[in-house]
Amino acid sequence: MEYISQLKKYYPESVRIDKLMNVVEYLLLKFGNDEKNLLFGNSTCPDEVNNLILSLAERWGENFSLGGLAGFPFTGISGFKAYSSHAPDNGSLFILYASHIGINKSGELGKILRRGMVDETVCCGSATAALMNIQNNTMTDLKNDGQQHQVENYLMKHIDSIDELYKLPGFIFQEIDDTIRELITVEKMKKVYLLGGIQINTHFEDLDYFVPLVFEIYSPGKGYVDHLSELREMLDYH
Ligand SMILES: [Zn+2]
Repeated sequence: MEYISQLKKYYPESVRIDKLMNVVEYLLLKFGNDEKNLLFGNSTCPDEVNNLILSLAERWGENFSLGGLAGFPFTGISGFKAYSSHAPDNGSLFILYASHIGINKSGELGKILRRGMVDETVCCGSATAALMNIQNNTMTDLKNDGQQHQVENYLMKHIDSIDELYKLPGFIFQEIDDTIRELITVEKMKKVYLLGGIQINTHFEDLDYFVPLVFEIYSPGKGYVDHLSELREMLDYH
């Protein structure tokens, strides 16, 4: 799997999702959770290649979909209000949120071979189209393409900083992260475990990778407590 060295060059802290799942499970259990007191939710792009949420939903029992194109939490205040109100009695919420990008077998970013296809396709299509539309001044229509229009709005202020494709999911993630935190604060959510980062989609026969950028616990009245270094230590990159 030659592309792994390319992947590690672009994203040194990427880790295969089976390893991530094990460590996250260990830590969530250590923090006193089980599948009965935790409601899983996700804000990720609806692209069928984003299959980490399927594994997490299976492990934790349910899945509330908070996201839309490129991974933005487009269900907004109403979605977060509903999600928070569905948490088990005396229980907590667990959100996976992420941008994503594909890498092909040759180590080229932004494209992958999908199941049943001969040719490779763009990944993330929404983020890549947003980048091109802003650069070409051909922004999409709010009425008929509302989510894509919003993705372009979010990306607009970073356009001059994205001189290489590998930087695109980082800026998308930054905007998703800001929006999620605003919604959690506005909604005065119940206790939330946050796992955020970049999903790296690989050839359809291989497992995906993930770059963990956020692992925090939000508690009402107390704010956020950062546990990312604990997660990274357990992932043992070397
Ligand atoms: Zn996408």
